[in-house]
Amino acid sequence: MKNATMKNATIKPSQRLWIYMSILGGLCLVPWPTADAGDKTAADAPPGIDTGAAPGAPFLRVLGIAQDAGVPQAGSIEDAAWHDPARRRHATSLAVVDPVSNERLLFEATPDFKYQLRHLDERFPVESRPGIDGIFLTHAHIGHYTGLMMLGHEVMGAKEVPVYAMPRMAEFLTHNGPWSQLVRYRNIVLRPLVAGQPVQATANVSVTPFLVPHRQEFSEVVGYRIAGPNRTVLFIPDIDRWEDWQEDLASLLGSVDVAYLDATFYANGEIPGRDMSGFPHPFITTTMQRLAHLPAAEKGKVRFIHFNHTNPVLDVDSAAAAEVRRQGFKLAAEGEELGL
Ligand SMILES: [Zn+2]
Ligand SMILES: [Zn+2]
Repeated sequence: MKNATMKNATIKPSQRLWIYMSILGGLCLVPWPTADAGDKTAADAPPGIDTGAAPGAPFLRVLGIAQDAGVPQAGSIEDAAWHDPARRRHATSLAVVDPVSNERLLFEATPDFKYQLRHLDERFPVESRPGIDGIFLTHAHIGHYTGLMMLGHEVMGAKEVPVYAMPRMAEFLTHNGPWSQLVRYRNIVLRPLVAGQPVQATANVSVTPFLVPHRQEFSEVVGYRIAGPNRTVLFIPDIDRWEDWQEDLASLLGSVDVAYLDATFYANGEIPGRDMSGFPHPFITTTMQRLAHLPAAEKGKVRFIHFNHTNPVLDVDSAAAAEVRRQGFKLAAEGEELGL
């Protein structure tokens, strides 16, 4: 890890405060006030603080829950989110913080990277810029990697940020501008991943990529298993169909504590006038049906994520969102945190 040893040497006042607050509160996590980061305000309050991990343990924070295009999407003129900042959502991304080793990871570099890095800096500030000890990319669709541009010459001019990528993804970044310039200027350093092989990503967190079936125009597509000392989390933001995968989702759920799963669309009919049955994402209704036979504890591990701007569950008061909860599943929320 870049600078890991150097950073380990001291605990800064901001981190000390966090540890004290954690101990005093008896919680692994404490809500952190978030300031206006530009395009988004009210929805920033952490809605789902999760207890259950030891103070000082690594934690995961959800930085975005929307499909690649975010909410509102460019050109959707009628979207209420244009007028109501509380309805805006960033593209799907997770942060992982290891407070003892003072390391921070990102899963995905989205078009909303600048706001998401800002939220992370408010939640767990570090001295270095950008202070990211690893970015794990799932694939080369625009919502998942284009935020890397913020590390480049025209913006931060970052130095050697480790970017973890599968072979085709790494090839794509190396040989196509503007990404190739990030590699050439060493704004980023590519760290190769091998499917099924865990990477020790921070002192206490290991990350294992696994292949998933999804459109692969420019790169492979992976999901991640993120394992801390206390909890293991599955992250699958994009997948075409559960049936196309050699893994069995239900049995995989049995091996983790929480699973963030592709929930781009709620159900067929969501986009007026279009038959969505061939759309390459499992509907939330399909996934719920597939897992309906599981006990409540297993279903409760699922946190749907990667919502298209048309998805009714974006409104947590909608009938669709209520139905997800009624069936025992959860919806990911921006700002929610989970001890690892
Ligand atoms: Zn996506
Ligand atoms: Zn995709």
